[in-house]
Amino acid sequence: MCVSSTLGPQLGGIEKGEDLVSSQVVLYEQRDRLVLITLNRPEVRNAQNSTLLYALDEAFSRFASDDSAGVGILRGAGPCFSAGHDLGSRDVDYDVSFSRRSLWWDHVGKAGAENRMAREEEVYLGMCRRWRELPKPTIAMVHGACIAGGLMLAWSCDLIVASEDAFFSDPVIGYGVPGVELFAHPWEMGGRFAKEFLFTGERIDARRALQMGMVNRVVSRDELEEQTMALATKISSMPRFALALAKKAINQAEDCMGRRDGEDAAFGLHQLAHAHNAETTGSPMLGVDPARIQQSGVSQLQMPSHP
Ligand code: ZN
Repeated sequence: MCVSSTLGPQLGGIEKGEDLVSSQVVLYEQRDRLVLITLNRPEVRNAQNSTLLYALDEAFSRFASDDSAGVGILRGAGPCFSAGHDLGSRDVDYDVSFSRRSLWWDHVGKAGAENRMAREEEVYLGMCRRWRELPKPTIAMVHGACIAGGLMLAWSCDLIVASEDAFFSDPVIGYGVPGVELFAHPWEMGGRFAKEFLFTGERIDARRALQMGMVNRVVSRDELEEQTMALATKISSMPRFALALAKKAINQAEDCMGRRDGEDAAFGLHQLAHAHNAETTGSPMLGVDPARIQQSGVSQLQMPSHP
């Protein structure tokens, strides 16, 4: 069986975030028991605006509820997995309301830290946690750039298979914030290396990510899909409920060791940094302000170096 379709919130529509529509920012394809979910904004290196994140949430929700779907694979169309948050394309949609997935109120129309925190709780921290807790195995299939917000998507999956051309970085200290909103760095790569990773903002390649335990496998670019599909097929043959319990047990163990609390604490520091930057410079990210870009209609596309 092979079923494919597109998902995405319909900007300007009535039921934003709930309808299967033709925005095509996320593609959904089922092959037997495997589901391929594809970030599909290749023209901006799969930069994450809200439209893409709500569409991705819709895709993961569909995958979770479909009994015929066993393992999900998340990948990026075009030259890379994801270059991070969309801070400057013409489709920045910071000030657009969507149907909320959490119980935080809509950030639109709010000011200052209340605006930022309500949005980031919803589309970054909240959604990544929903996806991490999805009770089916997920695999991130990473090629090319996986930068800042891209890390959050890859980390929300259970396994990461990277091609040899993949590279990872979180350069946001350069923007005056201590790391991306989902602060899982100490858990994904260990505290010692997380400090180097953040302090320098340097890229690490797939081989080094493998050494640190941040990815499961590194394969050639040509074999990335085949190898990932083979791994997913093997996992999909296992009993569904036992897989769900094993996943939950490991996630719970990490949270018992402090992952969730650590992320919460760091998220507060992240908001403090945004507020400090806004207070002292007028910009929550030292010169980058998606809300202002949207209001002014100015396109300042600078990917992939943007977080
Ligand atoms: Zn932020």
